[in-house]
Amino acid sequence: MLFQLFDKTLSTLLQRAHEILKTTFGFQEYRPSQENIIDALLQGEDALVLMPTGGGKSLCYQIPALVRDGTGIVVSPLIALMQDQVDALKQLGVKAAYLNSSLGYHDATAVEQELVNGELDILYVAPERLLTERMMRLLDNARLSLFAIDEAHCVSQWGHDFRPEYQRLKSIHTRYPDVPRIALTATADQRTREEIISQLQLEQAKIFIDSFDRPNIHYAINDGANTKQRLWTFLSQNHADDAGIVYCLSRKKVDSVAEWLTDQGRVALPYHAGLSSEVRQENQRRFLREEGVIIVATIAFGMGIDKPDVRFVAHLNLPKSIEAYYQETGRAGRDGLPANAWMAYGLKDVITLRQFSQNSNANDTHKRVEYHKLEAMLGLCELVSCRRQALLEYFDEAVSAICGNCDNCLHPPQKWEATEATQMALSCVYRTEQRFGVNYIVEILLGKENDRIQRNGHDQLSTYGIGKEFSTAEWRVMMRQLIALGYLEIDIERHGALRLTEKCRPLLRGELSLQLRKMEKQEKQVSGKKGKQTVRPQDEALWDALRSLRMSLAEKAGVPPYVIFHDSTLQEMLKERPLTLSAMSDITGVGEQKLTRFGKQFIKEISKYPLSELLDNNLSQTVNETLMLYQQGKSIDQITKERQLTSTTVYTHLSAAIETGLLDVKEVLELDEQKYDEIVFAIESFGEDKEKRLKPVFEALEGVYDYGLLRCVQASI
Ligand SMILES: [Zn+2]
Repeated sequence: MLFQLFDKTLSTLLQRAHEILKTTFGFQEYRPSQENIIDALLQGEDALVLMPTGGGKSLCYQIPALVRDGTGIVVSPLIALMQDQVDALKQLGVKAAYLNSSLGYHDATAVEQELVNGELDILYVAPERLLTERMMRLLDNARLSLFAIDEAHCVSQWGHDFRPEYQRLKSIHTRYPDVPRIALTATADQRTREEIISQLQLEQAKIFIDSFDRPNIHYAINDGANTKQRLWTFLSQNHADDAGIVYCLSRKKVDSVAEWLTDQGRVALPYHAGLSSEVRQENQRRFLREEGVIIVATIAFGMGIDKPDVRFVAHLNLPKSIEAYYQETGRAGRDGLPANAWMAYGLKDVITLRQFSQNSNANDTHKRVEYHKLEAMLGLCELVSCRRQALLEYFDEAVSAICGNCDNCLHPPQKWEATEATQMALSCVYRTEQRFGVNYIVEILLGKENDRIQRNGHDQLSTYGIGKEFSTAEWRVMMRQLIALGYLEIDIERHGALRLTEKCRPLLRGELSLQLRKMEKQEKQVSGKKGKQTVRPQDEALWDALRSLRMSLAEKAGVPPYVIFHDSTLQEMLKERPLTLSAMSDITGVGEQKLTRFGKQFIKEISKYPLSELLDNNLSQTVNETLMLYQQGKSIDQITKERQLTSTTVYTHLSAAIETGLLDVKEVLELDEQKYDEIVFAIESFGEDKEKRLKPVFEALEGVYDYGLLRCVQASI
C-alpha cells in the first residue's frame, strides 16, 4: 500500500519534471540519460554525472530543483559565469540568484533574505562562500531541495583545476544528510572519478557516464609550417564571420596573432594573464555579447565561458595533454551545431613543452605523469587513423566504427617508407655521442659546411651529407615524428640534445621497418557538409533579420544574444517558419516565458520573408542560388552570366527542381510541343540505360540540344 502511494507520487513528480522541460525550457524531449538522472534525484538519491560539455548537464539539477520543494544550491567555482547563468534562468522565468565575492554587502544580504524566505528556486554559491559558518546558519534556516556540485573534478589534486575548498564540501553531506546531492563533471578519466567519489563521500551515489563523443566537432591536426597563413586559410574557408577561440602558448604570440588577425580585417581580441583585469573583462564581454568575435588567448581563457555558439577552436601550439586538448576543443559547438577543432603544431612545441615540464618545481612523480600525458598527446597528433576513436579510447570509451568527421577519416594521410631515412638520422645522433640537438644533426645530414661541424670533426663522419635528398624542413618533420613516436628523446638539461631510446634497436638492426606520415603541403578543405554551418541562400535574408532582432533584444536586456535564443533555435525557425504562437511554441528552445516575451516579434519578422513554394525545398545550396535568380524572372542566359556557370550547369540545376515537381519543364525550356515530343521520344528509345546517360540521345538529336536541356526533359518524364 505504502509502496503504491510512493510510486504514484513519483510518477506525478516525473510528469511535473517533463512539463517543466517543455514549458520552462522549451524542449520537447530529454537528451539521453537526463531523464534517469532527474528520476534518481526526485527519488532523493545522490548522483555522480559524467557528461561532456554541451551534453545538457545543467538541466539535470535545474529541473529537479524546480520540481522539489525548497531551494537548489549550486556550488560552482566559476564566479564569472554565475551572473550569466542566473540571467539566463531569469529569462526563462526561474527565480534564481547567486552569492559570490562580486556582490556588494547590500545585494548579498537581500539574496540571503530571499533564501531564508523560501523565495528562490535556485541559488549559485562559490564553494569558499558556502563553507562559511554564516552561510551554514542560513542554510539551516532554509528549505533545501538539493545540492549540485558543478565542476566536481576540482576536488582532484592531480587535475589542473584543483581547488582545496572542494575537498571540504563533504561536510555538507554530514550536515544535511537528507538533501540529495548531484556532482557533475565533464572530465572523464578513471582516477578523477574515483577521487570525486571518495572525497565527496558519494559511495552510495548512482553513477551516470555519458559518451564523451562530441559528434558535431570536426577534428583536424596539421603540420606547423606557415602556421599563421594556414590559420587564415582555415578561417576564410570555414569561419568568415564566426566566433571562435585561438589558443597560443605564450603571451607574446597571443598579442602578435591578435594583431595580425585584426590587420586581416577580423575582430580579434587578446586574452592572457599579462593584461589588466579590466582589459580582460572587456574582451571577454565583447566575445560573449557581440557576434563573430575571435579571442586569441593563452590557456588562461576558457574555463567559465559558457558561450554555446563558439564555432571553432584553433590551437597554434600543442596542448600539454589529451585532457587539455579535449577540454579546450570542447568549448566549440556546445549548441550541437557543426564546429571545428583545428590545430597546427611543430617540433618547437614539443621542445618548449618538455622544457616547461622539466624546469617546473613539481616533484618527480608529477613530472613523470606530465611526461606521459605529453607523450599521449603527441601520439594523437601523429596518428594516421581516426582521431575521434583514439580520443575516446584514451577516456576508456570503446568505439567500434571510425567517425567520418575528422581529417584522417576524410582525407586518409599518405604514408611513405621511411626506414632508411630514419636509420640515417638515428645513426647520426649515435655517432655524435647523443650530445647535439635537432638543428645540428640536420646540418650534418645535409652536409653543411660550417665552423662548428669542422671543429668537432663531424665532417669526417659516415653520416655527413648522407641525407641530401631531403630538405631541412622535411628533416625537421621527420625528427619531430621520431620524437613523437618515442624513438628519440630530448634531454632538456643538456640543451635539447637528442638521445636514442630502447625502441630504436630493432630499427637500427634492420629488423623493423617504419612508415611515416607524409607532410601536408596545403591546408586541406574541411568537409563542406559537417564542418560548416549552413544556411540556405533563400534563408539568408531572414537569418540576418532574426539575428539582428535577437541582438537588439539582447542589448536591451543586457545579456548575450544566445541568452535570448540559441543559433539552433533560430535555425529551426528558418526551417519551420512558424507564423502563429502555437507553432512558435513547438520550436526547440522556446518555452512559455520566451514565447510570451519574444514570440510575436519573431513571428512578425518571419512573416516579412515569406518563402515561395519553389524555394521551400531540400535541394543543394548551388541549385537554390540558381532557383532564386530564376524566380526573379532572369533568363537562362542571364543566370549563366551572373553565376559564371555554363548553361549546361544552369539547366542541370533547374532539372533538379523539375524532377521534384517544383517547376514545369515547358515553362522552363520554352520549347514547342513538337520539339519536346521529339526529345522525349529520343530519350525513351534509349530508355533501357539505367545510368540515365544522355550521350546516345545527344548524338541521335545531332547535338542540337544542350545536355542540360536534355536533362530537364528527362527529369520531367
Ligand atoms: Zn575519424
